[in-house]
Amino acid sequence: MIEILFLLLPLAFYSGWRAAKKNNSKQCAESNKLADDYVKGVNYLLSEEPDKALEVFINHPDVDEYTAETYLLLGNMFRNRGEVDRALRLHQNLMARSSLTKYQKTSVLLALGEDYFAAGMLDRAESVFQELLEADPNGVNACLPLRQIYEQTHEWEKAIQTTLCLSKKSFTESHQKLIAHYYCEMAEQEMSLGNLHKVEEYISKAEKNFKSSVRVMILQADLLERKKNYKSAFKVYLKALRLDSRVLSYLYSKISKVSAVVGKDKELEVILLDLYKNDGAVLSYLLMLISRNGSNNIPVNFLVDDLKNRKLDISSIISAIDILKSNYDICSEHEKLPLIEKALINYLKGEAIFQCQNCGYKMQDYMWRCPACYQWDRVSHS
Ligand SMILES: [Zn+2]
Repeated sequence: MIEILFLLLPLAFYSGWRAAKKNNSKQCAESNKLADDYVKGVNYLLSEEPDKALEVFINHPDVDEYTAETYLLLGNMFRNRGEVDRALRLHQNLMARSSLTKYQKTSVLLALGEDYFAAGMLDRAESVFQELLEADPNGVNACLPLRQIYEQTHEWEKAIQTTLCLSKKSFTESHQKLIAHYYCEMAEQEMSLGNLHKVEEYISKAEKNFKSSVRVMILQADLLERKKNYKSAFKVYLKALRLDSRVLSYLYSKISKVSAVVGKDKELEVILLDLYKNDGAVLSYLLMLISRNGSNNIPVNFLVDDLKNRKLDISSIISAIDILKSNYDICSEHEKLPLIEKALINYLKGEAIFQCQNCGYKMQDYMWRCPACYQWDRVSHS
């Protein structure tokens, strides 16, 4: 509640100053009432009675340029604390006041849009931000929240338009990457519908915005696979994997399927073994591939370490123990049971494999966008 004091102190000073300045007794009485009301409101806030405080502020008839700013901030504070209903009431009440300047009306409308967005009322939030954009097509403040809305509703074409609107200030590399992701999303949608010519069009637009995108590469390989050009698909998948091994969890089922068709499991195994030296998370996929082919190329000393220290899925634990069965020099019979126990404990601990570098959210599979903070390309190994 300390923030409320800081928020309202300037107002208390202002009220006192206004009361002292005015000689007229009626005006003086009004000013004193204003100061009294605010002290009462602050007291309610400090004693954790926000609804009573809200009534005091909302029912106060006099809102001028100073009090309007305070109302606005107070409403934003309610929203930031998750009290969206209160934020909405305050901002709606403020919007209905006739004494606001044009700039203040814009600020209150923006705040209202954010309240609706926080409350999950995306339709209302969208129409508020659209209204702001129509009133000022060069103002970019409404573009960012609109982009976030269209991401949530998967309206990717509109998300692209609002990113272009955002970039009116300066078109940066991050804007281009965002637009590439949106085209990739559109390509994936069309892929699921079987509209391959559309997929091609969106992939090419995505590539124009972000030439070295691994996601674009994977989509190109997906398209080649759909066109039954398995050899080329395998090559492009492999190129994407070499560029960014984080995508393996997303890519494995695709690449292993194509690899089986073109008989390239050995080549894939060599690549996975190489990646495994620097990235332990590759192990479970390597084991899946090895168990498919009965190969025994795995470096067993790494295997023991990973059983002890990493979270592997159950089928990987079984495959790993299977491989260790024939390697008595690395792991004797009496060492195996504690090793299995440790591997199972790691499994049950549910340690996440990936983590968002922006907000810290942990997840099991690689994702292009963090599901918690909605940032793109911020997920990496935890
Ligand atoms: Zn995040």
